[in-house]
Amino acid sequence: MILAAALLGSPAATAQTASSQAEPKAAKVALVYSKKYEINLAGLERVHVFDIHKYAKIAKQLVKDGLLSEHDFHVPKELRRDQILLVHTPEFLESLKDSRAVAAYLEAPLAAILPVRVMEAGMLRPFRYASGGTILAARLALKHGLAINGGGGYHHARPDRGEGFCVYADMPIAIRLLQNEKLIRRVLVVDLDVHQGDGTIVCCRGDDRVFTFSMHQGNIYPVPKQKGDLDIELEAGTDDDTYLRILRRTLPGVIDRSRPDLVIFQAGCDTLAGDPLAGLAMTEEGIVARDAYVIDTCVQRGIPVVMTLGGGYSRQAWKVQYASIRRIIEKHGAVRRGSRIAN
Ligand SMILES: [Zn+2]
Repeated sequence: MILAAALLGSPAATAQTASSQAEPKAAKVALVYSKKYEINLAGLERVHVFDIHKYAKIAKQLVKDGLLSEHDFHVPKELRRDQILLVHTPEFLESLKDSRAVAAYLEAPLAAILPVRVMEAGMLRPFRYASGGTILAARLALKHGLAINGGGGYHHARPDRGEGFCVYADMPIAIRLLQNEKLIRRVLVVDLDVHQGDGTIVCCRGDDRVFTFSMHQGNIYPVPKQKGDLDIELEAGTDDDTYLRILRRTLPGVIDRSRPDLVIFQAGCDTLAGDPLAGLAMTEEGIVARDAYVIDTCVQRGIPVVMTLGGGYSRQAWKVQYASIRRIIEKHGAVRRGSRIAN
């Protein structure tokens, strides 16, 4: 943390200046990923709707296509207990010692039969690395303007329980940590996963420095929805044109209102037509354009932005997010890994 502060110079001042600058500032994208994100539950993970290899497929393809070398990924540390307790209750941490509780959080009933140590090593630890990735990505965004965590976005996790495949509330934890370190004050969460980020809203409730903006399908999980600062419910069948029109009409005003020092963008791609857990009708091109609009708007305004991957459950999900990340790297250029940053 000391190292991060040193790298950032006067961090609070940097964040404030960034949000009020009228001139666009150059940003490069830092990619955060670790092979330790990979979940391994003795084969049981294969029967789950979540493509647990999505993260690795994206990272491998970026290397294969020459956009990054294996050494260019910024490697996060595992989320620590004290960091988890910034948002979650001690009782929640205790519940993770029971496979049945974790299986319920992950909506994977079969996993309830697994010994706790298998669950811990094969599932919870990977989640802690992927959640630590959101913290590192937020630090890197403050330094370089733009960062992507090749995982994270667990927006259904709540202080006292996990839910909807989410265990640790990575985004609220990163927000609270960086606020405590006085690196940031105001944060805008832009949650464009097809499901409302109800957990994030609950975790951030009562903190008027955090503004939550969500666009999601109205008639699907979670039920009931939570009341965020701005929620837009979309109808089943919403296509690219309608979606992008609403987003373009809304986001600039949301940024003006919230005046963030940092934007955290949950870029779930379960808005894709054919996703088994949702019913929107977006195409790959539409989702790439959506992500481009959010990222480029923040960069043009000089506001540091972090992207997390969130949901996406069709077989094509990883390809859509790959295409989106590829465009971001091609447009903004990648930060090559040099110095280590404390997590
Ligand atoms: Zn989702």
